[in-house]
Amino acid sequence: MLLNPLTFYAPQSLQEATKLYASLSEARILAGGTFLLNSLKLLKRKGLKTPQNIISLRKVEELKGVKFAGDSLSIGSITVINDLFNSAHLTDNLAILRTVCRNISTNPIRNMATIGGNLTSRYTWTELGAPLIALEAMLNFVGPNGEQEQISVEEFFKNGAKATKILSHVSIRRDKTATVSYYRVKKMSDVDVPLLGVCIKTNFIGDRFSKTRVCINNTITFAQRDSVLEEFLEKSEASKNIPQEALEHLNTAIYDNRSDDYKKAMFRVAIKRALADLIGRKK
Ligand SMILES: Cc1cc2nc3c(=O)[nH]c(=O)nc-3n(C[C@H](O)[C@H](O)[C@H](O)COP(=O)(O)OP(=O)(O)OC[C@H]3O[C@@H](n4cnc5c(N)ncnc54)[C@H](O)[C@@H]3O)c2cc1C
Repeated sequence: MLLNPLTFYAPQSLQEATKLYASLSEARILAGGTFLLNSLKLLKRKGLKTPQNIISLRKVEELKGVKFAGDSLSIGSITVINDLFNSAHLTDNLAILRTVCRNISTNPIRNMATIGGNLTSRYTWTELGAPLIALEAMLNFVGPNGEQEQISVEEFFKNGAKATKILSHVSIRRDKTATVSYYRVKKMSDVDVPLLGVCIKTNFIGDRFSKTRVCINNTITFAQRDSVLEEFLEKSEASKNIPQEALEHLNTAIYDNRSDDYKKAMFRVAIKRALADLIGRKK
């Protein structure tokens, strides 16, 4: 299907892109295109208005790639999922990103879809949110005059994931003392989208959990933390009974709201497995 007429912009620098984005009305950002192009076709099919201006970020080299600066990993927003998966920097707490990326959809999608698109496209089921909240990641947005704005991924999703500026990169501090586990269930066998995801990060001190983050992707609301379970874990010893006991200490609104029995059960399986994995790796 042909798209409605539009003006396509392909800026070569971030500065050019941010100025265009601020000056054009009805402009949409194009990164990998896996969501946007579908949604333009869908809008047209429904007879609805489509944006007049598309700004492609694909030629903006400074937004590509994964590098290490100071003690933090910096992921350019138009880095594709497979390039993050292949990065040699994914060690210590960052290693969990390899598992997360490997589970996202299929190879063709992972070769096109960008990290920035996954975080900012406002689909509640995309899955980088929960692990990035667990890893205390920060988002960096850039305005038309080069002004930078940082917000934690947690706050970004709490505020409804609205990106009014261009996301330039995601940064995550390396933490050699953190242990992180991730468990994800897919929705169906033919189209690989997630049903749910659970990411738990802790910094064990002896047998105790500390600075624990339990981050949930229920695919209905944006990724969020379960503070009830976090509080329980912070007061507990990391024994082998904990994965079972934890099920009595969930913020059930996150798991049970609009979930059918299968999903409710799989949430409990995911929490148990993620905790058993975490405790099993305690040094
Ligand atoms: C068949 C299929 C299966 C999928 N399965 C999964 C899955 O299993 N798990 C999962 O997590 N995801 C899945 N996805 C979603 C996929 O990860 C997203 O489509 C992708 O990450 C969006 O990135 P993109 O670069 O293609 O975004 P685009 O489609 O190019 O952009 C979408 C929107 O994101 C915003 N945007 C993008 N980049 C920026 C930026 N730098 N600054 C500001 N705003 C920006 C804009 O509003 C833009 O219009 C699937 C998608 C498809 C099509």
